[in-house]
Amino acid sequence: MELDDRQWSQIGDETVEHLARLIRFDTTNPPGNETPAALYLKQVFEREGFEEMQLLESAPRRGNLIVRLRGDGSKRPLLLSAHLDVVPAEPEHWTYPPFSGAVAEGMVWGRGTLDMKHMAAMSLMVLLLAKRQGLPLKRDLIFAAVADEEMAFDYGSRWLVENHPDLLRAEYALSELGGMLSPMAGRRVYPIQVAEKGVCWLRMRAHGQAGHGAVPHEDNAVVHLARALARIGDGRRMPIHVTPVAATYIRTLAATLPRAQGLLLRGLLSHRLAPLVLRRLPREQRGDLRALLCNTVTPTRLQAGVKTNVIPCEAEAELDCRLLPGQMPEDAMREILAIAGPAVELGPLKVSPGVEFDSHTELFELLKRTLVAHDPAALPVPYMVAAATDARQWARLGMTVYGFTPGQPPEGHQVMRLIHGHDERIPVSSLHFGVRVLYDVVREFCC
Ligand SMILES: [Zn+2]
Repeated sequence: MELDDRQWSQIGDETVEHLARLIRFDTTNPPGNETPAALYLKQVFEREGFEEMQLLESAPRRGNLIVRLRGDGSKRPLLLSAHLDVVPAEPEHWTYPPFSGAVAEGMVWGRGTLDMKHMAAMSLMVLLLAKRQGLPLKRDLIFAAVADEEMAFDYGSRWLVENHPDLLRAEYALSELGGMLSPMAGRRVYPIQVAEKGVCWLRMRAHGQAGHGAVPHEDNAVVHLARALARIGDGRRMPIHVTPVAATYIRTLAATLPRAQGLLLRGLLSHRLAPLVLRRLPREQRGDLRALLCNTVTPTRLQAGVKTNVIPCEAEAELDCRLLPGQMPEDAMREILAIAGPAVELGPLKVSPGVEFDSHTELFELLKRTLVAHDPAALPVPYMVAAATDARQWARLGMTVYGFTPGQPPEGHQVMRLIHGHDERIPVSSLHFGVRVLYDVVREFCC
């Protein structure tokens, strides 16, 4: 039976209520403490007659909930996943307290409303609806609400993949980040994540001569290191590499723009022109596009010296470097050293390769089609995110994972600033839109 607009409005409100409830569980990681939130979800599923679910604790209070709605088994499962932990908030900077789940000014406010309890609330609703409507599923529909995405996956997706793979195994998964309207050059762009950059944290070290702080000399490790870091600066000098996902993103967007603007954007595909084009783009677009086209490097920690009047013989910095798909740590280290100069040496601290999924699939086409059905001006494009998500763990089980948490924030709602920032909030209207899009995708793909 088709649901009408009045019913969808109620379903949207129900989604808002569940999200507000989830926000009120403080799942700041560390320490996480996800079990009460997972238990809340479990109780909702139980009330609606779901039978197949497991609440698994990887450690005390680190709860993961896996729920399965059976299909006839003729096709392989679809997994919807969301992490329940959130990053810390500084309440003094918030309009409404970060764990209040306040619904005000047309928004749900709180830490996790965009990253990513909204997906937990929408997925919950989609499973409830699939059951209430009695959808004739060909695939099992699995929902995983997991712990510990914001630290290292150790108590969440990584632990589940290594200890309970059979509960999760699916052909496809939908998780963060993507499917949310983010206007670009006046177009209604909906990036859908198909790739994630690799992580390559580095240690940079400079050596010099020890000595007395009262007698400056020219071989000071602190100064060598500072000069090298200043040259790296904001990463503007890292070379351009055009990966297939970046090329598709830029070409798709450029094709919809007026000729002159389109040509300018296509300049990003040229190693020679890209740095000039980047300089001409608005600042808020520049960072994202540079991350799409370059291995990036950001100095984040510094350490040197034991006493103010002692010149240390060594100074160290830690760098957060992110690799494009296909790039190795040695490639990025070579690029960084070429900019930083010969006075420093580099070594890896932690490396985790990126992932890239095929976007030429029936599911990807369906995601695009469904967005356009709900927003005729939508321009869905495959996209690569710079951060690491649970997708890289699900990939280890052979799943194709897309970042798809559909939403439609209004103009000026800076999603990427609010995620991990102050006053994180999601418009109520965006949740109403998102749950409907997600349900349509699931119904068409699983039935
Ligand atoms: Zn997240």
